Amino acid sequence: MLLEVDNLSVRYTTRRGVLSAVDGLSLQLRRGETLGLVGESGCGKSSLGKAIVRLIEPAEGTVRLDGQDLGALTQRQRLPWRRRMQMVFQDPLSALDPRKTVRRSLTLPLEVHRVGTPAERRERVDALLHQVGLAATLAERMPHELSGGQRQRVNIARALSVNPDVLICDEPVSALDVSLQAQVLNLLSDLQRERGIACLFISHDLAAVGYLADRIAVMYLGQIVEILPREALWRHAAHPYTQLLIDSIPARGARLAAPSSAELPDPYAPPRGCRFQQRCPHAMPLCGEQPPELVPLGGAHAVACHLYGREARAQVSNVSNPAPIASVHDA
Ligand code: SF4
Repeated sequence: MLLEVDNLSVRYTTRRGVLSAVDGLSLQLRRGETLGLVGESGCGKSSLGKAIVRLIEPAEGTVRLDGQDLGALTQRQRLPWRRRMQMVFQDPLSALDPRKTVRRSLTLPLEVHRVGTPAERRERVDALLHQVGLAATLAERMPHELSGGQRQRVNIARALSVNPDVLICDEPVSALDVSLQAQVLNLLSDLQRERGIACLFISHDLAAVGYLADRIAVMYLGQIVEILPREALWRHAAHPYTQLLIDSIPARGARLAAPSSAELPDPYAPPRGCRFQQRCPHAMPLCGEQPPELVPLGGAHAVACHLYGREARAQVSNVSNPAPIASVHDA
């Protein structure tokens, strides 16, 4: 396995107390695979991405790249491993230094990681611009002289410049016009396939994730509630939250209505049991008592919901219109 995240937690201490943004989360990423991580804003998915590349320090848990525990390394030892994991951020303008030309922004990572001679770096920057569909003449421009789509292409080129094995893309198209989103998504998909890079694609947009990812992990309030192959997403999604996200895709129905404050658990004091219980139409007594664990549903599909656990079999007969409790792939 290329990337293994095990039992990772991220906490922020604020004036109100300790906010648990990511809570004991585990996932794996194979070489060349795209794993989509989807969930509403504030569910902790960006914190997870930053903790994986160590832009923030996790409170608990491990991140292993090719078996190496990155937390066990010093800052200096971590540098060559950081080269292998690069991040593309949501806001293409703030991700670029406003005082540096495109060429300087693309050359800097090559210098930090001591890649090539100055002449080779110059050639490499020109080649990268070509690969992301930008004219070489843009190399001497400043970020404010570029369009949003061009800036994000520069960010993608910068992330690819040091030949990473893993790309973490945090909402890479959400700040772009709709007309540019498909272009940038296609570019990411093509480059990733050509180079065999593994990608953690973080987004609130289930349609974009369903288009790009091989597997999809659905996150709710700091935890993964379902993980499934792309082929299973539209017909076999099992968790009530995943079903809610699917129903809220504009082409399929109404947009996801913002939950009322009564429906949202307090992230400073998450409820005992399932964190989705206030919004779940299938909630039953067990859901308020015991947190559901991820259980396999067959193949690469797993779900954390008592409707699919052994404990629920005794209670599920009391649930109106329950989801199936055996394999959702039986049909
Ligand atoms: Fe709904 Fe219970 Fe499943 Fe949570 S565990 S999603 S409350 S049925």
